[in-house]
Amino acid sequence: MKNNLSTEVHVHTLVSHHAYSTVGELVQRAKELGISLLAITDHGPATRDGADAWHFMNLKVLPRKIGDLYLLKGAEVNIIDFEGTVDLPENLLKRLDWVIASIHSPCFIPGTVKDHTNTYIKALENPYIDALGHSGSPDYAYDIDAVLETAKRYDKAIELNNHSFFMRKKSIENCRKIARRCAELGVNVVLSTDAHSVFDLGENELCWNLAMEAGIREEQIVNLNAERFLNYLCRRKGFDRERFENTKPE
Ligand SMILES: [Zn+2]
Ligand SMILES: [Zn+2]
Repeated sequence: MKNNLSTEVHVHTLVSHHAYSTVGELVQRAKELGISLLAITDHGPATRDGADAWHFMNLKVLPRKIGDLYLLKGAEVNIIDFEGTVDLPENLLKRLDWVIASIHSPCFIPGTVKDHTNTYIKALENPYIDALGHSGSPDYAYDIDAVLETAKRYDKAIELNNHSFFMRKKSIENCRKIARRCAELGVNVVLSTDAHSVFDLGENELCWNLAMEAGIREEQIVNLNAERFLNYLCRRKGFDRERFENTKPE
């Protein structure tokens, strides 16, 4: 299958201080690359250089559509304990179009496999969390079947992250295992660049190949294109499709 992924659903702006591009630069580059949907997903406030609550509250000043490009308002929230608690309150999470929940080492002390399994299951049970981000770290190993079955039950997605090939190399073996099991169990996946600058946009070859080698079918990739991704969010979160056609700030 040819790589025809045309969305970017995990992207950081310079609001996360270890990322380097503005929304405007990302939008421009996305348009040049023929990307049809861009979701801004800055880090939650628990990481030292994450965005604060006001960032997420005020995303309403951005339009949801710029020409043909859909701009989604999202977050990469931090999971902060074994109960799957995340670092944004429910009243903010519910305003967002798309929420990825990830473990980042500065705000999560590792426990046992059982602890991490519970962590991810509880996060997936949170109705405002849509996907688990880069979950392949061996430091936070979990019972893959138990977590993937939960993702399937709630129609949620498991991320396969291109950035992990550069930043989290020791995760890749686990990522392969997770992807294979997603293929076997028919679990939704999202493929992402986790871009930290405009220069990362469109660089999804490695996670695409990982998905293909694992046997992921095209229909499992919920962010293959804008239509599929928006339909997925509408189906799962009960959004009205019109929500995404707004060309003016709210
Ligand atoms: Zn992350
Ligand atoms: Zn990220």
